[in-house]
Amino acid sequence: MAHVITENCIATKQAACVDVCPTDAIHPRPDEPGFDAADQLHIDPSRCIDCGLCVPECPVKAIMHEASVPEPWRRYVQINAGYFARAR
Ligand code: SF4
Repeated sequence: MAHVITENCIATKQAACVDVCPTDAIHPRPDEPGFDAADQLHIDPSRCIDCGLCVPECPVKAIMHEASVPEPWRRYVQINAGYFARAR
């Protein structure tokens, strides 16, 4: 299980979550290639330790625990994981 960034991040990408993550699990960071082209930020499920520090940082409430993602947004579980699968 991990935290997941969902639909509200799209076109927002405020990225305050990036700075509080203790495991550097959230990408692309604003200083990384691909940030401008990315639709949203993503959480790497292999690095997320479920600390929850990123959740209150998000101004659009896009981040939630995987187990709490509502059905219409379940696809974001795969969208987050898939982003890192493509990068490896
Ligand atoms: Fe990083 Fe914690 Fe958020 Fe996981 S829950 S992405 S480890 S800040």
